[in-house]
Amino acid sequence: MTKFSDLNLGPKVLKAVAETGYETPTPIQAGAIPPALEGRDVLGIAQTGTGKTASFTLPMISMLARGRARARMPRSLVLCPTRELAAQVAENFDTYAKHVKLTKALLIGGVSFKEQEAVINRGADVLIATPGRLLDHFERGGLLLTGVQIMVVDEADRMLDMGFIPDIERIFSLTPFTRQTLFFSATMAPEIERITNTFLSNPARIEVARQATTSETITQSVVMFKGSRKDREATEKRKLLRSLIESEGEKCKNAIIFCNRKSDVDIVAKSMKKYGLDAAAIHGDLDQSQRMRTLAEFRDGSLRFLVASDVAARGLDIPDVSHVFNYDVPSHAEDYVHRIGRTGRAGKEGTTIMICVPRDERNLADIERLVKHEIPRVGEAAEKPATEASLSDEPAREEKPKRTRKPRGDKAPKAEAAATEEPASKPEAESEAEAVEHKAPTAETQTEAKPQDEPRKTSSRSRSRGGRSSDQSKSGRSSDQNKGGNNNRTVGLGDDMPSFIAKSFEDRM
Ligand code: AMP
Repeated sequence: MTKFSDLNLGPKVLKAVAETGYETPTPIQAGAIPPALEGRDVLGIAQTGTGKTASFTLPMISMLARGRARARMPRSLVLCPTRELAAQVAENFDTYAKHVKLTKALLIGGVSFKEQEAVINRGADVLIATPGRLLDHFERGGLLLTGVQIMVVDEADRMLDMGFIPDIERIFSLTPFTRQTLFFSATMAPEIERITNTFLSNPARIEVARQATTSETITQSVVMFKGSRKDREATEKRKLLRSLIESEGEKCKNAIIFCNRKSDVDIVAKSMKKYGLDAAAIHGDLDQSQRMRTLAEFRDGSLRFLVASDVAARGLDIPDVSHVFNYDVPSHAEDYVHRIGRTGRAGKEGTTIMICVPRDERNLADIERLVKHEIPRVGEAAEKPATEASLSDEPAREEKPKRTRKPRGDKAPKAEAAATEEPASKPEAESEAEAVEHKAPTAETQTEAKPQDEPRKTSSRSRSRGGRSSDQSKSGRSSDQNKGGNNNRTVGLGDDMPSFIAKSFEDRM
């Protein structure tokens, strides 16, 4: 079996790896590190969870350790689709580079330009960036990419989903032709294939097996739910969520609750808090430092419930999540796989429960087609009168429905009753949440439409002509985002793009 010491990594990198406790390289590491160290381009077809971050950071650090940083001319560049992923790569970099003298700059939106500029000016060996923020720095004249020797594109398929490909092409064209490129994607959509054919030179292609669509260690279920009245559906749905959480009892050590819309992420988190559940929201509109803090608290166990949009569904390495609740059925079937993949990691047990309202049944059918099995309907608890099923102080474990498999098309018991009544004492702020909810929806709050991390809708051509100030660029971006079209998409569209393009899901939002 290959060992890290067989891979020609520098001794200081090997020492850092040994200190992390990793003994053997994962297949993507064993496959990608040797050609990368030889200076070859690498095309890694691998998903998150395969150890791909180390497969590019380790050789990069080994190679960079030989040279020296120059002001405003980074020697390497890592592009990530989201701020969180960029921050995660930066963390990995710090871990593996702790015994070598290398500097890095993390260039992501939501963080002050000034601080980032100061680091670039001092000279950074490695830039870890989201494409939008990198180009903003470039256009301000604070950055030269002509010294880039190694360029990494991480999660290229996600970049495609988020509309970043023109930015990526532009960044490629700003770096030297002689650079080494390490390119990672979970799948090879035709557009990704085109980019790799254009910008990679005779790459070593390493493909690692896709994760089974849904892990066998995850117990999945879906609760069919219909509100008593349209205007009560949301309140009742939140109540149902609470009763589902309660009925999982202590087994539910922690959980991610996924909502399709950012507005719902906020409302659900707020409502849970008011009902005494330790919850916080994470989505693309929140301040970056807050996002990072929330994520850190969830990781270290000081926060029990993370209410999230799909920004947290892909790529993030959050170990040990006992439960995933899908407050909404995701509009794109692949997102279901990514969402529930946050639990049941590394052979651990995981539980996932989804709430499905009638208008989501079509999406549920899409998911079941994709995962090639029926998701067991549960709902016996819901059949009980509300006073028992959801209002009791003890939503007893026994009430938790058994995960029974129902034949397709059979009418699964609806979870109406469980959710129709108000709690005995409705906390004040739940009504605040309601107030937010009943406000006329805005374009921003209606859907998770805006890609999470500043993907630009401007073409590279118009950008290179323009050279806008940051403010202009911001306003340009948001007005672009209001133009509709692409704008309606949700991030994390999944691997088998681009079926969604044909789909209108406005009516489902
Ligand atoms: P990634 O796919 O880069 O997000 O990595 C997924 C997880 O695997 C992270 O928690 C890494 O710290 C961990 N990991 C990376 N390489 C190894 C290895 N060789 N052995 C065990 N765990 C690893």
